[in-house]
Amino acid sequence: MNYPSEAPESARLFERAGVVTPGGVNSPVRAFGAVGGTPRFMVSGKGAYLTDADGREYVDLVSSWGPLLHGHAHPAVIDAVTKAAAHGTSFGAPTVNEVALAEEIVARTAIDQVRLVSSGTEATMSAIRLARGYTGRSTVVKFAGCYHGHVDALLAAAGSGVATFATPETEGVTGAQTHDTVVIDYNDAEAVWELFEQRGDEIACVITEASPGNMGVVPPRDSFNQVLREATLKSGALLISDEVMTGFRVSRSGWWGLEAVDADLFTFGKVMGGGLPAAAFGGRADIMAKLSPGGPVYQAGTLSGNPIATAAGLANLQLATDEVYSRLDAVSTELQGMVSAALFGAGVPHRVQYAGNMFSVFFFDREDDVREVRNYDDSRTQSASKFAAFFQEMLARGVYLPPSGYETWFVSGALDDGAMSRISDALPYAAQAAAA
Ligand code: PLP
Repeated sequence: MNYPSEAPESARLFERAGVVTPGGVNSPVRAFGAVGGTPRFMVSGKGAYLTDADGREYVDLVSSWGPLLHGHAHPAVIDAVTKAAAHGTSFGAPTVNEVALAEEIVARTAIDQVRLVSSGTEATMSAIRLARGYTGRSTVVKFAGCYHGHVDALLAAAGSGVATFATPETEGVTGAQTHDTVVIDYNDAEAVWELFEQRGDEIACVITEASPGNMGVVPPRDSFNQVLREATLKSGALLISDEVMTGFRVSRSGWWGLEAVDADLFTFGKVMGGGLPAAAFGGRADIMAKLSPGGPVYQAGTLSGNPIATAAGLANLQLATDEVYSRLDAVSTELQGMVSAALFGAGVPHRVQYAGNMFSVFFFDREDDVREVRNYDDSRTQSASKFAAFFQEMLARGVYLPPSGYETWFVSGALDDGAMSRISDALPYAAQAAAA
């Protein structure tokens, strides 16, 4: 299989989209900016495969950026969605499905209570508001390279030292909005202790990706999460573990199932929505009690706990048994080995990093550049051009990868022998393209 690089129908749709939508997409990474070429417009998905507007079929290693643990259009998820839709799309009133989904989430995790929202961004934004309301403090600590959605206060880049205020990372966010945000390097325990020594009594919360996947996969090392737990406990700040990506993906509960460091609040999304818009934040009962309507911290949503989204999420979670996670781990390990073997074979400097079944591949220009990627600065030494060459060749050979070297590859339980052999056939060509 070797599809032409032109994709006429996708190109036509992209042009049409560009007239009415900025950049032709509704989320920036979809525009293929990092890899070039025409973004593929998808028309259907089944199991491990996606089909685009030109009728080409791809093995999907994006899985809708994580939610599709069991592949596309799993019959149990589609059945749940269809049945829920037949009863009506939204009521703006409490429903049974949202109680059942909340019970399932609480049963799988370390939290007492959960509030449902519609996106991961809403979940982290609300968790931060709650942490500030609960502690009566203002400062939020985040880590460079960790992404928590497009919350104004979290679109912040590191200032010049640990004691400086963060600066906005995008136009449209004001200095006032990031004034109470401090950004430090990931995996830097010393910087955490130094910051808490200087400003511990101002800090409302530390928000961290439970195991980061938005600068490529960069797992916590040397008990970094435990350091965050100790520092926050000591100062009376809350720890927010953002499990929007890892939650219910890397284990029955998420990263917490692999490394049981207790946080005060957790955020979830992706898998718990089964491909529909559903997300959540939750934690200790005494903290959650501060939320409206019982408490003084306001939080709400017209479509929160939507009956179709919660039905999809519940079906997705009910399918996610321990056996499924074992299989996902095995598939992920096999894939990592296949990618590495092909890249070694072609002499392409690289490093594969994983966290549970999530993994990413860092390409480097020279063998001397290869390093353990511990933080955002390390991640930024990767070779964008080698990744782009590799990506395009995989696409041409029917494998759809995340279109950026800073993203995680997401496996699904639908990856069968046929899908794995398509990937295996494509890899030597893609490795050669990256070597050139
Ligand atoms: N937190 C993490 C760790 C994420 O990876 C993401 C999205 O990728 C978000 C929050 C934001 O979620 P959403 O895109 O649903 O707003």
